[in-house]
Amino acid sequence: MALDDIRDLIRTIPDYPKPGIMFRDVTTLWANARGFRTAIDRLVQPYAGVRIDKVAGIEARGFVLGGAVAHQLSVGFVPVCKKGKLPWDTIAEHYELEYGTDTIEIHTDAIREGENILIVDDLLATGGTAAGAVNLVRKAGGTVVGCCFIVDLPDLGGKAKLHEMGLSVMTLCE
Ligand code: IMP
Repeated sequence: MALDDIRDLIRTIPDYPKPGIMFRDVTTLWANARGFRTAIDRLVQPYAGVRIDKVAGIEARGFVLGGAVAHQLSVGFVPVCKKGKLPWDTIAEHYELEYGTDTIEIHTDAIREGENILIVDDLLATGGTAAGAVNLVRKAGGTVVGCCFIVDLPDLGGKAKLHEMGLSVMTLCE
């Protein structure tokens, strides 16, 4: 399946969740067996031969994708959660949103010093959320080997922001 076909399986919903926003809905891609399989295969392609110890997926759509990517790579999975969702001791990171700030957390024992981590989410917009996850992984002692997403919204500058942080970024469509 070509990347154009993956793009065609993503639904666009105008004015969701607010007027003026074009929401890219990847659930229609996930519901298609070949689409989901191809997306996961292509997301892991650049990491063949790269040592990855764990995948960190960002709540909530990054859990679905990150779980599948971790399974494909035969490595562990770490959930990066919104504040207050994890049951044990956590490390937190505050990050900038387009309007305001937010907080994400991981368990203190989720990542060991020196582990290589691949960050996964559905969509890259301003890059604020992904940059927060990168800082959180680094705070925990991990090394981020890359960040991968299904969709990139290039006008919002997320890819450039992550490149400036010295990161490799994999996206499947714009
Ligand atoms: P950023 O922090 O500005 O890069 O926004 C990315 C985060 O917002 C990711 O966790 C996405 O899941 C979510 N997001 C923003 N816009 C969309 C969209 O159009 N579809 C799906 N998720 C989105």
